[in-house]
Amino acid sequence: MKPDRCSFCKGKLIKGNTEFVVKVGAEVLSIRDVPAYICNECGEPYYTPEVSEKMDLMMKKFHECALLVHPVAAGELSLNEVTA
Ligand SMILES: [Zn+2]
Repeated sequence: MKPDRCSFCKGKLIKGNTEFVVKVGAEVLSIRDVPAYICNECGEPYYTPEVSEKMDLMMKKFHECALLVHPVAAGELSLNEVTA
């Protein structure tokens, strides 16, 4: 099952990559190249359950500071760094 229409504006969803930015406490976590369906009208991203799950896991690890192993890339992570 994949999303087809935007639930806000009924715009068409196009498969692509987006940047997921979330505030975790005082830190801003930015995850690049997240696969998503993006509304071509309002730009709202829709994530598949697999991706949402992976990002939940990533945020959990971020909370535990388990992912802050690359000083240069701190705060900018790739989905590939998480293996479920
Ligand atoms: Zn929309």
